[in-house]
Amino acid sequence: MIQMMANKIKKPIIRLRNVTKIYKVGVERIYALNGVNLELWENEYAAIMGPSGSGKSTMMNVIGCLDRPTSGYYELDEQDTTEMGDAALARVRNERIGFVFQSFELLGRLNALKNVEMPLIYSRDGWWARRKRAKAVLERVGLADRMKHKPNQLSGGEKQRVAIARALVCNPSILLADEPTGNLDSKTSEAIMALFDQLHREGQSIIIVTHEESVAVHVRRIIRMKDGQIHSDLPREQDPAFKTTPHQLPVNAGYRNELNSNNSVGSIGAGQNDAQEEQA
Ligand code: ADP
Ligand code: MG
Repeated sequence: MIQMMANKIKKPIIRLRNVTKIYKVGVERIYALNGVNLELWENEYAAIMGPSGSGKSTMMNVIGCLDRPTSGYYELDEQDTTEMGDAALARVRNERIGFVFQSFELLGRLNALKNVEMPLIYSRDGWWARRKRAKAVLERVGLADRMKHKPNQLSGGEKQRVAIARALVCNPSILLADEPTGNLDSKTSEAIMALFDQLHREGQSIIIVTHEESVAVHVRRIIRMKDGQIHSDLPREQDPAFKTTPHQLPVNAGYRNELNSNNSVGSIGAGQNDAQEEQA
């Protein structure tokens, strides 16, 4: 039993300590991030939510090493990134981070396969091995029959699948998606979320910025931001917007027990510990 529990202990992939990001616009200083502390874990499945301007994209850009904090400490895979030079940071970004954006950001001149191969440019593998990897990941996202299509020959959902394949091709520690369903209709959004669910089940860590509850309902953990700070950080079933109180459930003790046991083995993270202490 103890051994089983030990196996469940996960490592943090990402650790932010008192991170700030300050933009200067004229004489004004904008605290886009204002003292953020956060841990993200192996096989994490989290949503970052919050009003427009609350710092969600800034936090994703810092986590994704697209941007550096103004102050504070950021550790990725147990390595301090704040000490790294620009070349080292670019390398880490290429190898450890997969990005997915609302607007897909594919190269229009290249077909799906070549778009997915792009991040492998720094790989030591030969072209044949790279092609094989790109094909395998396109198959994984359900696009085996679209490899030769260019972006303008693909639907929105297919474009986002290509972008997800490109984000996965280097086998990243974490997949960061900023409003990945923002340009998709609701049916296509559901299909993309089903793909994220599948990737999560296969062990991938995924963080999604979203303002859509239909997206957030898929994840295990909800991080809410406000004014550049983390306002709440809870397992989804304890987040106020998603909380299902016992009286809303069918009157059935078995179902309640199942809910309780789900809570106790739910995603781990600082937020859940806080919440459990509150309940105790
Ligand atoms: P969100 O993604 O939650 O909408 P952002 O992270 O994009 O929020 O922005 C947080 C705050 O920082 C906002 O007030 C925004 O106007 C400001 N901001 C973001 N990027 C810049 C920038 N490059 N220069 C100046 N201010 C910025
Ligand atoms: Mg944003």
